[in-house]
Amino acid sequence: SLPIVAILGRPNVGKSTIVNRLAETKGAIVFDEPGVTRDRTYQPAYWRDREFLVVDTGGLIFDDDTEFLPLIRQQAMAALAEASVAIFVVDGQEGPTTADEEIATWLRQQSVPVLLTVNKCESPEQGMAQAAQFWSLGLGEPYPVSGIHGNGTGDLLDEALKHL
Ligand code: GDP
Ligand code: MG
Repeated sequence: SLPIVAILGRPNVGKSTIVNRLAETKGAIVFDEPGVTRDRTYQPAYWRDREFLVVDTGGLIFDDDTEFLPLIRQQAMAALAEASVAIFVVDGQEGPTTADEEIATWLRQQSVPVLLTVNKCESPEQGMAQAAQFWSLGLGEPYPVSGIHGNGTGDLLDEALKHL
């Protein structure tokens, strides 16, 4: 069976956009409403002749008590359990949030390797500084990317391949 790359993060950081970018398909549905992805969707993806599956998860909400919370968290945990590597997406334009810190704390307790991916870094000049804000999450090097424009996703996938 193909190795799995799980995409995690709070709502609206650009998880679905990144999944679309990595899979180069339009199969995933991208909306502005936070946490709109309710079901795990598996997208086939290729990088440097390696094939794998990218799984989108519903937005991880730790603070909020919406009715979707238990289901979404359960799905995220199920996705993580079967993944070879996790891509934890954060918003470089917003900077680290309390929810990011809570997710990071949880991820540090899991055994799967985590790639901290700082999305919405369109500008090469600002991208490094935007990414650097996230060293505080304690998950190692933050990778600046733009899911919309595609910058940085090659470096991210090179890093992900090391764990597949
Ligand atoms: P999800 O809830 O984490 O799956 O986030 P989505 O992929 O649905 O994106 C949420 C919002 O962020 C949408 O308005 C996207 O257009 C926007 N977005 C996603 N990726 C980027 C990016 O690389 N740059 C910018 N500026 N906006 C982005
Ligand atoms: Mg989504």
